[in-house]
Amino acid sequence: MPRAAEDAAYPCRSCSFSLWLLIARLDVSHLGLYDDARFPGRCLLVFDRHVEDFSTIPPEDAARFVGDLQHAARAIAAVVKPARLNYALLGNKEPHVHFHLIPHPASSSGYRRKIPSSLNAGRRSEARYAARRGRVRTRSRCARRPGVSALARAKARGKA
Ligand SMILES: [Zn+2]
Repeated sequence: MPRAAEDAAYPCRSCSFSLWLLIARLDVSHLGLYDDARFPGRCLLVFDRHVEDFSTIPPEDAARFVGDLQHAARAIAAVVKPARLNYALLGNKEPHVHFHLIPHPASSSGYRRKIPSSLNAGRRSEARYAARRGRVRTRSRCARRPGVSALARAKARGKA
C-alpha cells in the first residue's frame, strides 16, 4: 500500500540521488514524476536502499520491487492511457537502481522500433555473439543451482 510521500527519506544518503517530483512511497521504493514533455506521465521508480546493480538485491526484496513496478505501471496506465508503456533499468548516468516508466502517447508509433537506435550501433560478429550467448546461458544455469560443481563454474568463466 502506498505510504505518504512525506515519509520519504530523500535524497539517497549514499549518492544523493533524488526524484524531481515525488508522487508516492511504495513498499520498497519511491515513485516520482520525470520531466519529459515527449512522454507525459513518465516516471522513475527508485529502490529505497542504495544498490547499484539489480542482480545484487536479495530475491525477496527484488520481488517486492517488481511488485511496486507493477503497481506504478497500473497507476500510470490508468491516468495516461498510453499506447505502450516501456520499462528501462539502465544505471548508466545514475547508478542507484531505478526504473524508468515511459508511457508512449496513444498517438505515437515510435515505440514499435525494437530498441532505440543508439543502443544498436555496436553489434559484434555472429560468432562472437554466439560464444557470449553460450557463456551467459551456462552461467544462468549455474546461478539457479547453488550446488553446481566448481568445474562447471570454471567452464562458465571460460577457464576450463
Ligand atoms: Zn543512492
